[in-house]
Amino acid sequence: MNIFALSGILAGFTSFGMAVFVLLKAKQRLHYLWGIFCLSVMFWGFGVLMIATEDDPAMAIFWWRVAYIGVVWIPLLFTHFVYKFLSLSHRTFIFILYALGAIFSYANLNTDIFINSVRFVFGQFYYSYPATPAFQAFTVLFFALTIYSHIKLFQGYRVAQGIKRLQIKYFFMATLVGFAGGSTAYLPHYHIDIYPALNLTVFLYPLIMGYAIFRYRLMDLKLVIKRSTVFVALVLTLAAVYVFLVSFVTEYLQQFFPYRALFFTGLIVSILLAIGFEPLKRFLQRATDRIFFKDEYDVETYLDSVTKFLSTLLNLSKLITEFTESLVSTFKVKKLAFFLLEKKQRHFQAESLIGFPEGVVLATFHQRHTFIRALSLHHAPIVLEEWKRQEENMALSRNDQQLLRMLEQLDVALCVPLYFNERLTGFLLFSEKKSGDVFTQKDLQVLQIVANQAAISFENALLYQETRSFNVTLREEVKRATETLKRVNLELNDKNKQIRLFNRRLAAANAQLQELDKAKSEFISIASHQLRTPLTIIKGYISMLLEGSFGEIEETERDALEKVYVSNERLIKLVEDLLNVSRIESKKMEYDMTKVDFGALVQNIVEEFHDVAEKKHLTLSMQRDPELPFAKIDSEKMRQVVMNLVDNALKYTESGGVAVSVSCQGKKVMLKIQDTGIGIPHKDIPRLFEKFSRVHFVSSVNTEGTGLGLFVARKIVEAHNGKIWGESKGIGKGSTFFVELTL
Ligand code: ADP
Repeated sequence: MNIFALSGILAGFTSFGMAVFVLLKAKQRLHYLWGIFCLSVMFWGFGVLMIATEDDPAMAIFWWRVAYIGVVWIPLLFTHFVYKFLSLSHRTFIFILYALGAIFSYANLNTDIFINSVRFVFGQFYYSYPATPAFQAFTVLFFALTIYSHIKLFQGYRVAQGIKRLQIKYFFMATLVGFAGGSTAYLPHYHIDIYPALNLTVFLYPLIMGYAIFRYRLMDLKLVIKRSTVFVALVLTLAAVYVFLVSFVTEYLQQFFPYRALFFTGLIVSILLAIGFEPLKRFLQRATDRIFFKDEYDVETYLDSVTKFLSTLLNLSKLITEFTESLVSTFKVKKLAFFLLEKKQRHFQAESLIGFPEGVVLATFHQRHTFIRALSLHHAPIVLEEWKRQEENMALSRNDQQLLRMLEQLDVALCVPLYFNERLTGFLLFSEKKSGDVFTQKDLQVLQIVANQAAISFENALLYQETRSFNVTLREEVKRATETLKRVNLELNDKNKQIRLFNRRLAAANAQLQELDKAKSEFISIASHQLRTPLTIIKGYISMLLEGSFGEIEETERDALEKVYVSNERLIKLVEDLLNVSRIESKKMEYDMTKVDFGALVQNIVEEFHDVAEKKHLTLSMQRDPELPFAKIDSEKMRQVVMNLVDNALKYTESGGVAVSVSCQGKKVMLKIQDTGIGIPHKDIPRLFEKFSRVHFVSSVNTEGTGLGLFVARKIVEAHNGKIWGESKGIGKGSTFFVELTL
């Protein structure tokens, strides 16, 4: 085996592996194109293997043709793939390419104008030589298209952004390496005898492409890589076993079965294959799973489980825990932060932080924070790596650049927004995956679905929580109010009890008071009665003494006797007043109503007071309506009233006089007693007619008053359904008393 053969094997196997697996999983035209391209490289690879090991020139020509079945299509398919990959369209051009492909294929397989002779080179194998005009034409086409496609790729790379840019980069690298190495195989055709060792690099292009597919989601064919890896590993292992057996075991067996050694080797290989194929395949599958797909998850199962708890859990904190834990375990990320718009809708708060070092405080974000504002505009997950690359091209807005900085600071690799009703209600910040892998297109799609669903569930849970906490508050409020009510009730009961007790005591005190009052009235009544008789007798005797019924009396004796008389009179009046009060209070006052000439009654009284007025040098006038009708009154009691009023008027007047008048207004009789005396202070007027009421300063003028006269007068007038009141303009301005009786 020589290096040329080895390059063929390697290129053949790797291309075959990639072709099979891309074709198995092909979803788009692009995938088919790539698969077929790989197949054409494979043809060339295996063709080279056969050429490199063939020592019959005629057979070598045959293998060269086989190899060129693939080579003819390599530049054409590659150009078409590049056009498709860069979304360039030029149908006619592509059609011409395929037409050329068909022509060269025909020339290669059915004529001698393409490949017709070989020469022995490097002492190892037969090389197609000389290059026919058709072959030369094809060489030109091969290089032209290869170079042209790479220029196109390079142009595409310059304008591409984000992940696409990176994908093109790897794609470019892969094919450049492959083609550059592969191109050296043309040299010996033109008698430039450089060993086509660089051919070895051809096998690298599927590996680099594989890496790009895996790492940068090139063509979204990660799964394909998994399968192809298993398959390639399987084939390589089997090939290695076969080579081993052929080269060593056959040699060994040759000693025993000189002619059948190869047959026995084949037998052993077949047996080993039959026994070992399945376990080997499973082993390799598990191994690749471990290497490439340790982060793999079954989308359906995951979505199923998420949907289950998202639609059944109502407890917000449980929901958050389940949700974030499921994300971490499924996507195998190092860190995860989950932010949710809080109740007052002002801040986004970290509801869950997984994997962040203890004590790390992620800031809460205000609604108006630039980060949130920028995030609100992105309705899809943001992959930081892609953004970074966009930023390199200055394709990011300033807002987004700022957002990128912040996410970088937070060590975030992916940010997934949660929307409810077109409004950002939360977001997830993912760090890198533990494996260091990028988030695949599938991851992003799954996350988008899950985030949308979660946004609804969180909104529901929030609502539920609010209702519940409202209920709890309500219950607490009701409980508190009930307790307050109970306390107030108890207090009220207590107060009521106290009031009842107090009332009972009051009633008892009242009863006692009434008893006392009764006793007092009885005492006054008895005392007055007992006093009145002797006082009247004294009055009689003094009158008689003064009138000289017991002989002439000296002037000095008269004077003394008159003083005794006056004092006695006062005592009689006092007793009379007391008796009246006690009668009134014990409701024993009796009235004897008769029709009386009220005017005459008043006139008589006024006349009786003439002496008193004269002594004090006061005028005392009387005016009387001539047509005064008779009034139905108790004349004796009314007499007391009038006498008291006239007496007071004279008593509290030092100069001037007293004017008494009786008039009639319709059915009303009005008695008016007006004096020019000391007057009554304004504030004392309302209390004049109360028991024992005396205007304070008056006691200095008249010390003998009892304050009972006006009280008795009021009671008597009221018993006549009449009214009595006093008026005064103030101290020193005289007073006027009125009695109004209804006829
Ligand atoms: P008293 O025996 O004290 O005169 P009254 O009941 O007759 O008792 O009068 C009550 C009080 O009213 C008197 O003490 C006096 O202060 C006041 N008073 C009554 N009439 C007059 C009046 N004509 N002028 C001034 N004060 C008067």
